[in-house]
Amino acid sequence: MSILSTAIEYLKGVGPAKADLLKKELKIFRYADLVQLYPYRYVDRSRFYRINEIGGTSTEVQVKGKITHLETVAGKGRSKRLRAIFQDDTGEVELVWFKGAQWIQKSLKLQQPYVLYGKPNFFNGSLSFPHPELELEADFKQSPLRGLQPLYPSTEKLNQKGLNNRGFAKLTRALLPQLKGQFPDFFPAHFRERYQLMPREEALFQIHFPSSLELAEAARNRLKFEELFFFQMEMAAQKRKHHREFKSFAFADVGPVFHRFYDSVLPFELTGAQKRVLREIRQDMRHGKHMNRLLQGDVGSGKTMVALMAMLMAIDNGFQACLMAPTEILAQQHYQGISELVESLPVEVSLLTGSVKTAQRKDIHEKLRDGSLHILIGTHALLEDKVKYKNLGLAVVDEQHRFGVAQRAKLWKKNTLPPHILVMTATPIPRTLAMSIYGNLDLSVIDELPPGRKPISTRHAFDKDRNSLFGFLEKEIDKGRQVYIVYPLIEESEKMDYKDLMDGYESICRAFPRPKYQVSVVHGKMKPEDKDFEMQRFASGKTQIMVATTVIEVGVNVPNASVMVIESAERFGLSQLHQLRGRVGRGAEKSYCILMTGSKLSREAKIRMKTIVRTQDGFEIADVDLKLRGPGDLMGTQQSGMLNLRLADLRNDSPIMDLSRRALQDLLDADPSLEKPDHQHILAEFQKRKAGKIDWGRIA
Ligand code: ADP
Ligand code: MG
Repeated sequence: MSILSTAIEYLKGVGPAKADLLKKELKIFRYADLVQLYPYRYVDRSRFYRINEIGGTSTEVQVKGKITHLETVAGKGRSKRLRAIFQDDTGEVELVWFKGAQWIQKSLKLQQPYVLYGKPNFFNGSLSFPHPELELEADFKQSPLRGLQPLYPSTEKLNQKGLNNRGFAKLTRALLPQLKGQFPDFFPAHFRERYQLMPREEALFQIHFPSSLELAEAARNRLKFEELFFFQMEMAAQKRKHHREFKSFAFADVGPVFHRFYDSVLPFELTGAQKRVLREIRQDMRHGKHMNRLLQGDVGSGKTMVALMAMLMAIDNGFQACLMAPTEILAQQHYQGISELVESLPVEVSLLTGSVKTAQRKDIHEKLRDGSLHILIGTHALLEDKVKYKNLGLAVVDEQHRFGVAQRAKLWKKNTLPPHILVMTATPIPRTLAMSIYGNLDLSVIDELPPGRKPISTRHAFDKDRNSLFGFLEKEIDKGRQVYIVYPLIEESEKMDYKDLMDGYESICRAFPRPKYQVSVVHGKMKPEDKDFEMQRFASGKTQIMVATTVIEVGVNVPNASVMVIESAERFGLSQLHQLRGRVGRGAEKSYCILMTGSKLSREAKIRMKTIVRTQDGFEIADVDLKLRGPGDLMGTQQSGMLNLRLADLRNDSPIMDLSRRALQDLLDADPSLEKPDHQHILAEFQKRKAGKIDWGRIA
């Protein structure tokens, strides 16, 4: 058995009591676990401050000097504190201890050269050090703690037992030399050289006791690299497994329907990105491997057109297709848009939502089963068991963040083989991250907007600006434009939100009186028919103002609407704000987005407002979002278990992520199943990590 799996109590300086605590507090059971307790930072203990230089610093400092005075002072109740004066040539500071006064007093010597280390406190204009570390200069010179001292994540309980930074540093100091030769590198030398990776053993030693900050960085980078490398290898393996195990229908031909559409219906030239993505989809579907593809594209990038053309490919090969949307309104819009586009083609389209009447529903069910219906568009209603197809070949899911994994799985069961699946999302996730977290989905990105889109002028305004806002809206409406005014609706505070919305609606109706103006209102409490009715009135230009909750967030398309006012904008997340803004700027007119907020904003809310005002680039916005929220939120619960990363951080380590992805790609290109002798150790390490034995030597 490897020395790495030695129980931690056998390490010099640990013993049973501390071992118990280490297990409970930090899950450190064995030597190997302690090696993996990585420092989160280092302090430079080669640098000495003079007392008159300390002012203003708030991190730990180190000072040489002497104790000139030492006394016990009575504190509250029976407590006593210890107070000392510490001096160098440039001044003096006060040292205080609130605990262990007696014991510390005995151990300290007056007028001897000491090295003091601690965090200064400024109080009433004077400088003091609570509970500093003190070491006689003579001892300090022998001490292993000179140079860069590692700071370890510890806990209150461990601290009390002496397992503070210093305590941990001593333990690792004692341990590491015993482990020489225990960390052979699974990356071969030429690989390390190519990607400039420090050898594994050196990295593990340097991360604890770096000879310089540069080497500490190099050590961390090496260890982050391997975490991300194996993480991505796992993702790639899942994807390969998917392709190996899941067959689907082969759409061998691009046939007459597609061609007729392309040649005589398609109202514009596809963008380069749309063409590329269509080719990717075509490649997937032609061979009988199952397509499971995420189509990512910013708001307005033209995902629907791509989806429609993919559906036509299915139809040309004798299959049916469906398109599932998260809301009734959106399903309706898709239905209208697509029906118009295929009007001149032999393609039957129907809409199925919760509000479709029974007779009509029956008719749809029948036509689905006999195959005379080609495209079914709808909401969750499409998932019901009663909905049976003759031959479903492709399922498109719009705005996937609203659907659960289980719901998607239901789609799979709608044919003998799972239909091809295309998931469309406008939630812009940086590409690298998307590739990593949606490992089991292939990714297509439409990274280009159709030509001629005008930038949307975006402003941040406050409640006090409301009068001039109304004046502005009036002018726009008089020019023939339409306006959205959106209120937040958060489930927890639904009642208040609803009240805000209705108050807002009333004040809008007062400011924009009938009959000159017509105002629509749409919110989640309305019946689907009523919502549709109001949406239709707005879409057809009968009303000029749409007051709504976020039901309109996703997808709606009213090109004549040119102003988006977002009320309580501070309560929306970045990606929601971006989506909402994307509702305007769809027509020929100049468009505006106005973010209304209260005057007191959190730091984060300010950043969000500034970001939306500054840029319209969904990927840039996603980057900021990621920095503010961390990747966990973006990923939902689905993937979190897979991210067993100790050092690497998906937010900040994208350069290393990119490097490791390239390295993995190159490796697999050269040796797809890692058969070469040189790569055996990589394979073995991968399997070990996959089996959950990431902590070397620990017995499961
Ligand atoms: P989204 O990706 O947000 O779903 P849509 O598919 O709704 O975007 O497209 C937004 C608008 O852009 C639609 O009105 C659509 O007809 C139009 N559009 C799509 N592709 C192009 C293109 N290549 N050139 C011009 N307009 C396009
Ligand atoms: Mg869309």
